[in-house]
Amino acid sequence: MRGHEFVNEVQTVAQVFFPLGRVRVWGWGESGAAECDEGYPATLSWEGGVVVVAAVADDAARAVVYINGAEVAARVVALDAVDVVRTELSARRVLMLAMFHALRAATGADIPWGALTGIRPSKMVRSWLAQGKGDAQILRDLEDVICLRSDKARLALDVAHAENRLTQKIFESSGAPLGIYIGVPFCPSRCAYCSFNMAAKPPTRAELTRYVTVLVREIKEMARHELHEMRHMGKRIASLYIGGGTPTVLPDDLLATLLDAVGEYFAPGADCEYTVEAGRPDTLTPENLRLMREFGVGRIAVNPQTLNDRTLQAIGRNHTAADFVRAFMLARDAGFATINADLIAALPGEGEDDLRRSVEALLPLRPENLTIHTLSIKRASRLRGQVEDCNDGTIFATSPVDMNVTQARLRDMGYAPYYLYRQKNTIGLAENIGYSLPGHECLYNIGMMSEIHTVLGIGAGAVTKYVEGGKINRKFNEKNPQIYMERRA
Ligand code: SF4
Repeated sequence: MRGHEFVNEVQTVAQVFFPLGRVRVWGWGESGAAECDEGYPATLSWEGGVVVVAAVADDAARAVVYINGAEVAARVVALDAVDVVRTELSARRVLMLAMFHALRAATGADIPWGALTGIRPSKMVRSWLAQGKGDAQILRDLEDVICLRSDKARLALDVAHAENRLTQKIFESSGAPLGIYIGVPFCPSRCAYCSFNMAAKPPTRAELTRYVTVLVREIKEMARHELHEMRHMGKRIASLYIGGGTPTVLPDDLLATLLDAVGEYFAPGADCEYTVEAGRPDTLTPENLRLMREFGVGRIAVNPQTLNDRTLQAIGRNHTAADFVRAFMLARDAGFATINADLIAALPGEGEDDLRRSVEALLPLRPENLTIHTLSIKRASRLRGQVEDCNDGTIFATSPVDMNVTQARLRDMGYAPYYLYRQKNTIGLAENIGYSLPGHECLYNIGMMSEIHTVLGIGAGAVTKYVEGGKINRKFNEKNPQIYMERRA
């Protein structure tokens, strides 16, 4: 490629087709790059594998794909041919489109999200809606220009509308909203797909005590400084999220210490959405559920991931499907207004039928929120090593679990998709979808995903996102819990 300004884009498109492959990007004229004559390659020095040569000129972007040195596909996308792209994302998007078309022609891969590679598929649609573009035109542009399959185009549009509606709701009820995230990065065991920076062993009581002590100190500091200033500017806490890890791994007295500090220093009001991501069903008891309710927690997540016991065991979770149902019923009896249940599609050994079965097993419980993720094979996970040991890095593009298999059923049961994001290295390049019964949508998720307001982050690995005048600045806490505790002791 000519120049280095599009390295990320080139890398991103390549990974759409080869999610587990090794991608290397050369600048024009670098050692190992193609020898070129007026933008077209003459020789290629990288033997084996797939080579794409891509360039943007004033009038068009070109991409040529070589496999083992032989040209197999070439595409040119003219700037004039894609008006919508030209006005929105200019050369950047056209280059990605040229690469996408050439790689699709070369590999024959069916990519449901087309050339839309961003992690938030609704973002572009929301900007089009803001420009006054109608639904019909948006669907046409998504399908014809960006090459989305029609169901994905419809999903992106529906979610964009839901995000707009919920954003309005957040601003109407809070005026100047603010979110708070508190992280507890410990779990009772480590899931095979986990890439979280956390010990493989369950935490000791001493570790948890030390962590909560440091966490409470950070809560106090945050309340005295940043939060104090923000409140002075008229901001109000619209959502408060205690996530992890698994916060309910804390013994009751430590959980009470944490919730007490949150109550004292943040004073979440009745209109503040207050969530604890319990996550692992094996950590829930009538006592800790009662405690959370007493401190005003209204939303809880209890995540089965799958309702298949064999898979649960294979992925290193300490609970069965029956344990999940018991925990869910305990949470229901404790009186939480909203319960979320997470599933993961394409877990090892699972296909579309397994996802359907898990959804059917969940529906009688009527969780207010149901989030379906697609398995993402992250570098730091145990699963990544297993996958690399047994395949050539390309199988996932050809064996996706289509999230469509459950969408119609969930819509029939009253659930609507309201947030949507994608992650790199996802099986089948599929998406994560948050469904909700009306009025139970998670406002914290909307605030975070849509980046519509500041979110203050507390705890190891937490990120504070300052959103001011359309600009976003991030501040990162120490990722490793041990380092976080040492530095702040
Ligand atoms: S529950 Fe989440 S954070 Fe904990 S081990 Fe599993 S994937 Fe990792």
